[in-house]
Amino acid sequence: MIKANDSNRKSWISVPKDSDFPIQNIPFGVFKKQNNQVCIGTRIGDVAIDLGLLQKLNYFKNIPLNRDVFQKKKLNDFLKLKKTVWRQVRDRIAEIFDDKHHSEFNHKKEVLHAVEEIEMMMPIKIGDYTDFYSSRQHAYNVGCMFRDPKNALLPNWLHMPVAYHGRASSIIISGTDVYRPMGQQLMENSSTPTFGPTRLLDFELEMAFITGQGNELGEQIKTSEAENYIFGMCVFNDWSARDIQKWEYVPLGPFLGKNFASSISPWIVTLDALEPFRVNGEKQDPATLPYLRFEGQKNIDIELEVQISSDNFAPHSLTKSNYKHLYWNMAQQLAHHTINGCNVNAGDIMASGTISGSNPETYGSMLELTWKGTKPIKMPDGTDRKFLNDYDTIHMKAHAKCGNYRIGFGEIRTKILPVKKQSFASN
Ligand code: CA
Repeated sequence: MIKANDSNRKSWISVPKDSDFPIQNIPFGVFKKQNNQVCIGTRIGDVAIDLGLLQKLNYFKNIPLNRDVFQKKKLNDFLKLKKTVWRQVRDRIAEIFDDKHHSEFNHKKEVLHAVEEIEMMMPIKIGDYTDFYSSRQHAYNVGCMFRDPKNALLPNWLHMPVAYHGRASSIIISGTDVYRPMGQQLMENSSTPTFGPTRLLDFELEMAFITGQGNELGEQIKTSEAENYIFGMCVFNDWSARDIQKWEYVPLGPFLGKNFASSISPWIVTLDALEPFRVNGEKQDPATLPYLRFEGQKNIDIELEVQISSDNFAPHSLTKSNYKHLYWNMAQQLAHHTINGCNVNAGDIMASGTISGSNPETYGSMLELTWKGTKPIKMPDGTDRKFLNDYDTIHMKAHAKCGNYRIGFGEIRTKILPVKKQSFASN
């Protein structure tokens, strides 16, 4: 039993109805206070809590933590600890802010901050970033459009969680604008490329997990142990320039069509907080090789939504999907990633791949929703979108729901700006 998950627990901090952050969540993040001090924290309702100060005030005295683990500006040192310690900290926070202990807390003024008064920062120093491709519907849709509907799923896809290594330096948090990237594109009926701003800028609706201290080089992580190495999850938008991607991706895979930006939500929700929302995934047929077999429920029921807004209209829903649609689960992804002895470290991020459900309203990218631009989507102001325009804002949200509370991730909100600096002439 994870004590912090007690569904009857109430906090003395008020939690608005349908908040993503009840006392059962206790996510971890990093924020800047009004005095410009950066601190590690958590959130209950609309209140951010300074964990560095709580530690200084001796609230974590019975937990085996380095004295400065919450005095840092990133979560990496905390990620290096064991799951049992992450759990003890979450349980202790639940206890401190439990309704029953209200009268014992004398540090509200210093420790609590209204979320409107803080600025969320990148919570981890990301070491390496891998992007999987684990939604069968998405892989099928892209295969249909980029290759051949008859052989949409490549022969390896049902035997392993396919992935590519991405770029950590351009991962940004919610609120950071994205500039339209430039690159090479091959226009229709042309045999030589042109150069210019992407015309097919797209989002990819994904979730990502963040690892704790992983395996030594040469060692492997089994599916049965994988979840001990996973700290938590966030929402992930793998920005994509489809024209650049299409021209460059053969034969080595995504490069500049992807690495100009990927956005994450700022609060990392622990795997423990998501425990009540486990479900079975789709039956895997053909049977996998033994190292990819697993026991128990490894998918998670997390509702996902993407909205678009602009200067002319308020957020408007583009698609709703669910994390449970993934064919390959996190335990399989991590086992596959390390089966050759590749080592993972605390603070690596592994994204799921675009999460598309089986009906067209649940597709996770504009590429699929507009079927390569052939079915434009009408916006509230009467304009159409095949792909994304400058000054559009994309909002991605995720939450898991049960009887009396929901565990949410907040949102990723990202505005698209025109090309930043055109140092080369377009043609
Ligand atoms: Ca992707």
